Amino acid sequence: MPEFSPETDSFIAEFDAAIEAHMEWTQRILRCAVLHASPGDDVLAPMAHNLCRFGRWFASNRAHFDVIDADAVQRVETFHQTMHDAIRAICANVMTGRPGQSADLEAFEQSQSELLALLARLKTLTLSNAVRHDPLTGLPLRYGVENDFTLCQKDARRNHTLLYVAMIDIDHFKLINDNYGHPQGDLVLRNLAATLKSALRSNDPLYRFGGEEFLWLMRCQSQEEAEQLAQRIVATVSTTPVPVAGGASLSLTITLGLARVGPEEDIASAIKRADEALYEGKRSGRNRYVMADMG
Ligand code: GH3
Ligand code: MG
Ligand code: MG
Repeated sequence: MPEFSPETDSFIAEFDAAIEAHMEWTQRILRCAVLHASPGDDVLAPMAHNLCRFGRWFASNRAHFDVIDADAVQRVETFHQTMHDAIRAICANVMTGRPGQSADLEAFEQSQSELLALLARLKTLTLSNAVRHDPLTGLPLRYGVENDFTLCQKDARRNHTLLYVAMIDIDHFKLINDNYGHPQGDLVLRNLAATLKSALRSNDPLYRFGGEEFLWLMRCQSQEEAEQLAQRIVATVSTTPVPVAGGASLSLTITLGLARVGPEEDIASAIKRADEALYEGKRSGRNRYVMADMG
């Protein structure tokens, strides 16, 4: 079982609770029909779909689901409301001694099964999205990088722009683990990911490549711009103190190896050249970027 972030764990728990709660309603209808027992105010209220636990939770996380599948989100909301309206109509009839309408029952059954299928789909998509992301930093892992690289490369060819692969590695990270402990090292990684993310342009793909290494696909207009961006990131990290336990903070530096991607070059070759430049940066003193020779 892969490890998930606390956010993902709580998402899955809420999905399961929603599915259980909406299944339980079938029993409530049955009890209402057989025993004329009230199904409860949360079912009978006119805006019940906005009041039930699932409705509130779903509304407050809508933005997250929209990213995953906006169409499914719309349909969840529609079926959820239809289901609530149908169950309210059925129970209102039964409670006042009128016969239930078969149309209401059909609407209930259909919307319930559609809703459950949609929730199962969103749950699967949430999980498959989660396994592609690093639970510690929230950054994408390297799974999708080849695909993104190909798209960026095509884009660069079409628009006559440049694509660079930047390998970023924390300097002397082992010392941080040794001095402050592994959990603090984890926090440092998380902090660095946040610093990098906010220093990069919003659509720059950044991955946790492994351990204390990050990969950045940098799109720019010129070599000069690439070097300026790389220098800016190195400087930002070295001037951003990282908090550690006990209110202290430490200073962190990174070394960055930069390789300009050839129009037909594959990702393995570009990463290899960026890695060689990174190694050169480590050898020549760290806290810097080094541009690789063209392959
Ligand atoms: P250099 O400047 O040459 O890169 O030195 P370094 O100490 O950063 O490099 P080295 O490869 O010797 O050590 C990397 C360390 O990163 C060792 C490993 O335990 C640590 N590390 C890798 N992944 C994680 C992680 O997820 N959490 C923590 N806390 N440490 C990690
Ligand atoms: Mg390393
Ligand atoms: Mg390192």
